[in-house]
Amino acid sequence: MTTLLPTEVEDRNPLVAARRQLRDALAELDLPGMFDMLATPRREVTVSVPLRRDDGTVEVLIGHRVQHNLSRGPAKGGVRFSPHVHLDEVRALAMWMTWKCALVNIPYGGAKGGVTLDPRNYSRGELQRVARRYTSELMPVLGPATDIPAPDIGTDEQVMSWMMDTYSVNRGHTVLGVVTGKPVALGGSLGRASATSRGVVHVALAALRHRGVAVAGSRAAVQGFGKVGRDAALLLAEAGVQVVAVSDQYGAVHHPAGLDVTALAAHVDATGSVVGFAGADPMDDGDDLLFLDLDLLVPAAVEAVINADNAHRVRASVVVEGANGPTTPAADEVLADNGTLVVPDILANAGGVVVSYFEWVQANQAYWWSESDVNNRLAERMQLAWESVVETAEQRGTSLRRAAMVLAVDRVANAHLARGLYP
Ligand code: NAD
Repeated sequence: MTTLLPTEVEDRNPLVAARRQLRDALAELDLPGMFDMLATPRREVTVSVPLRRDDGTVEVLIGHRVQHNLSRGPAKGGVRFSPHVHLDEVRALAMWMTWKCALVNIPYGGAKGGVTLDPRNYSRGELQRVARRYTSELMPVLGPATDIPAPDIGTDEQVMSWMMDTYSVNRGHTVLGVVTGKPVALGGSLGRASATSRGVVHVALAALRHRGVAVAGSRAAVQGFGKVGRDAALLLAEAGVQVVAVSDQYGAVHHPAGLDVTALAAHVDATGSVVGFAGADPMDDGDDLLFLDLDLLVPAAVEAVINADNAHRVRASVVVEGANGPTTPAADEVLADNGTLVVPDILANAGGVVVSYFEWVQANQAYWWSESDVNNRLAERMQLAWESVVETAEQRGTSLRRAAMVLAVDRVANAHLARGLYP
């Protein structure tokens, strides 16, 4: 078999994890010879992003865009601005996007992109120049029928506005459907900002009930207090869950009787971090939040935080992956042995791409839906995906991750086979 991508066996390399999950799913399906086709991205673009800094010096940053699969429609996926962006990570994230879109049955393939930089070290003007130059370098491969970016770690609706504007100026007319996660004033969808968190909480509550745990008074912790973690914590608290601990990259805070998440959010708005929140105790090591005695753990930050070294310390009954790839394959096995129910990323955090799809549909039709329409249709899709994954897992006697992968990979493989190979 040809091996076109790096395959170093390293528990925390997201690409190794993504390829292993694909191999496991294909082993369940009668689809011989599909591994290389599905493990290999259709297109990868690496670009230089020369940036004129505010002090007049020029720094050359590196950006990537990977389109993993295009069999079911245009590529779709977020853009990261993070110092940890590297090509293997982008490849893995693009592959997970393909499975996620297929699992929730939206007509996209998967993509991902990013620029290697720490946005905290750059001014707003500099970030605008990065977003615009990155977009303009990728003009030939972006477009509403080709590849549609969205926000991810370190990017937001402002970055999406700059990307949309740059693309539109170069095309000579406004193209609202080229990115999603835009501000509502600029063709964004009502409900998009909290959609990922809403989806995470929808399946988290379903998973607790599935486990026979009463939602009211159950105990949860959320790792990451960004676009996904913050609203997930707020919505969990709204549903009656006690959110006992929350962390960000600077540290963690803990309150055994449940944090006042609204007050915590106000503290983060004022200071930029959960650290120093008066209504809670600080935790010595932020990662200790992963090992609390919990009903529900929501990792909503970065990859590989639950890994071979620490999985045996996780005591939560249910883990709902708000982040992409937070559990490594070795950790998955340990959690399964310990009876932990893991709701996989491609199901748990699919709410964001579902409402991105709604935003794209609305933008392409120039016809806007009400927020309740968006939220109801999102809930319907999450519920359908949750039920089909649980049913498949029960039928096959396998984990939710394997079941979700089997459903998704089967859809993508069949689309590929139906189209046939060109030429
Ligand atoms: P974000 O940049 O808005 O927030 C990330 C948060 O994680 C921040 O609070 C940051 O401080 C924290 N963090 C970073 N490293 C950490 C660590 N080691 N320990 C604890 N906290 C840490 O990013 P986001 O958009 O919320 O994305 C978070 C995850 O969710 C990513 O894996 C992303 O791919 C995934 N995701 C995001 C969306 C979306 O719509 N934004 C959709 C699907 C999946």
